Amino acid sequence: MLCRITFVSATAELFVKDGYTIVRCPRCGLVFRATLPARGELDEIYGRAYFGGGGSPLREGYLDYVGDADVHRTNARARLRRLAGLVEPGPLLDVGCAAGFFVDEASRAGWQARGVDVSRPMVDWGRAHLAADLRLGTLADVPHDRDESCITMWDYLEHALDPRADVQDALSRLRPGGILALSTGDAGAALARISLRRWHLMTPRHHNFFFTRRTIRALLETVGLELLDLGHPAARFPLRYLAHKARLVLDAPLVAAVATRLARSQAGGRAVPLNLWDVMTVVARRP
Ligand SMILES: [Zn+2]
Repeated sequence: MLCRITFVSATAELFVKDGYTIVRCPRCGLVFRATLPARGELDEIYGRAYFGGGGSPLREGYLDYVGDADVHRTNARARLRRLAGLVEPGPLLDVGCAAGFFVDEASRAGWQARGVDVSRPMVDWGRAHLAADLRLGTLADVPHDRDESCITMWDYLEHALDPRADVQDALSRLRPGGILALSTGDAGAALARISLRRWHLMTPRHHNFFFTRRTIRALLETVGLELLDLGHPAARFPLRYLAHKARLVLDAPLVAAVATRLARSQAGGRAVPLNLWDVMTVVARRP
């Protein structure tokens, strides 16, 4: 996928998780789902259930994405502060924008921000409640009617159907000196390597690609971007989300009981900083 290899042999198979075969390309080392979802499946995959709501304990995704708005806004402002040191506020496109909290915070910080996402319930919610400039669809559906100063892809690339095409498209939309900033899981991190198929980001119903420092760098440099920074900054998470995730990984009755209580309680909405050093934030520039 990264090297555009078209046939992956059986020897590339790593393991099967939730019925999906995970492979590692023998040429470029990229780890990915052997069979990718069809475009027509995205509506169902990223429907209301993925983003939660109502606090029902789901198998994957978010417990209550919109309910945790404050946490998303806090994380968005931290990301915008980092971007402010690299590029003057200007046109910004957020790919995989969900309900648009980052787009809204970026607008408040002086950017001409818009977003795109395949999730109809999230885009509808953001338009109605934030009056954010959000479009339903993929990056390819966004008209190239201006040059962007910044394109962001927060926790997006692992969900993409063709990350290389998306990064190439992003490059073509950036003005010279423009910035691409993204976050994605680091499958080469210690936690990911130890927990392997039980890694909390190894969720192949929603995640198609599992990058490492080496493969994300190769992807960006292959298309012609210049890597500026690659780090593992902490982010804030609601307690109930962490308990929900722990429950999926640990499968222990005590954890399940705590998760259920937190999902219903006020305390569950409290945000705590966490760094498992397994999520990368990468910043690259169009030369
Ligand atoms: Zn490859």
